[in-house]
Amino acid sequence: MEQLRIPGPTPCPPEVLQAMTRQMINHRGEEYGRLQDEVIGALKKIFQTKNDVLLLTGAGTGGMEAAVVNMLSPGDTVLAVSIGVFGERFAAIARTFGAEVIPLDFEQGKPADPDAVRRALRDYPRVKAVLVTHNETSTGVTNDLKSLSAAVKEFDKLLMVDAVSSLGSINLPVDDWHCDVAISGSQKGWMVPPGMAFVSVSPEGWRAHQQAKMPRFYWDFTKAKNNAEKKQTPWTPAVSVVYALATSLKMMLAEGIDNIFARHARVTRIARDGVRSLGLPLLAADGCASHTVTAVGPFNGPDVGKLLKIMLAEHQTVLASGQGKLAGKIFRIGHLGWVHEDDIRQVLASLEAALPKAGFRA
Ligand code: PMP
Repeated sequence: MEQLRIPGPTPCPPEVLQAMTRQMINHRGEEYGRLQDEVIGALKKIFQTKNDVLLLTGAGTGGMEAAVVNMLSPGDTVLAVSIGVFGERFAAIARTFGAEVIPLDFEQGKPADPDAVRRALRDYPRVKAVLVTHNETSTGVTNDLKSLSAAVKEFDKLLMVDAVSSLGSINLPVDDWHCDVAISGSQKGWMVPPGMAFVSVSPEGWRAHQQAKMPRFYWDFTKAKNNAEKKQTPWTPAVSVVYALATSLKMMLAEGIDNIFARHARVTRIARDGVRSLGLPLLAADGCASHTVTAVGPFNGPDVGKLLKIMLAEHQTVLASGQGKLAGKIFRIGHLGWVHEDDIRQVLASLEAALPKAGFRA
């Protein structure tokens, strides 16, 4: 079987795939309502929140767009904290819908500095919301969201968090860290296929929503909330993904969120120690290294594309290439969701065999 080691979509356990073979049910019926309620209840436990969690049918980017258009009005100023491709995407969405975006970019491979956020908020008092990526998948860096949140809340700003590749895998207590909006996507740590986004909204977020005038229809949170009260979604949901989620969330709660976070930390340690012992560089320092994806590089000489081709052809292992400015310079090992120590050991053994063939010298 192929070892799919990209940072999403991730492999799904057999029980989850089996759950998806179920016949369709009426998405306006009681059986679906019970399922949706159960799924939302479990999501709230993993988000560690008492806030509303909305189920949206769409990709993670849809969840990000939904957050932007439901919280902001054209002309609002946002501070867009970016440490990579997904931070830039959040900023681009806000700009597309007419926000004035103040970019605060950090070097790729480094986390955002909370004091720089403080300085920016002091310089631009008109900022209404701060956009932050919790885990930057393109560089394998996890931001210190607790400290960033403290900086944002000193200035009483709205905190909107892209947690697409962290929630469910890396500790993110949404309420304790005062996230007004936190977004995740089904194909990441949740062990289910792509197709749904989950978005939590705080009371302060709902107050901002009341004022927000950006155009929206499909993503309208008022419609989502009103329908959630009837245990429904405004539009036809990805019913099969909801089946999958009901199963995966039971598995996740049975394992326990602290155990899940510890497992992700363990596989990360194995990945990073293994990469080092192969003589390869790691993009992120230990203190900010992501527990869901490890970025290896940067390389200037050897052909990363060739390495990934050999890994696929000879080891049935799919690794991810670099994105944006890091295209061709790094590769990434995804280790989130349904992942265990032996999966990563196998990737490392395959890499050891493939590296010399691709022209990498230890
Ligand atoms: N944000 C982050 C941090 C991500 O890793 C991704 C997916 N790689 C997205 C947003 C976008 O998610 P999607 O591809 O589901 O739109």
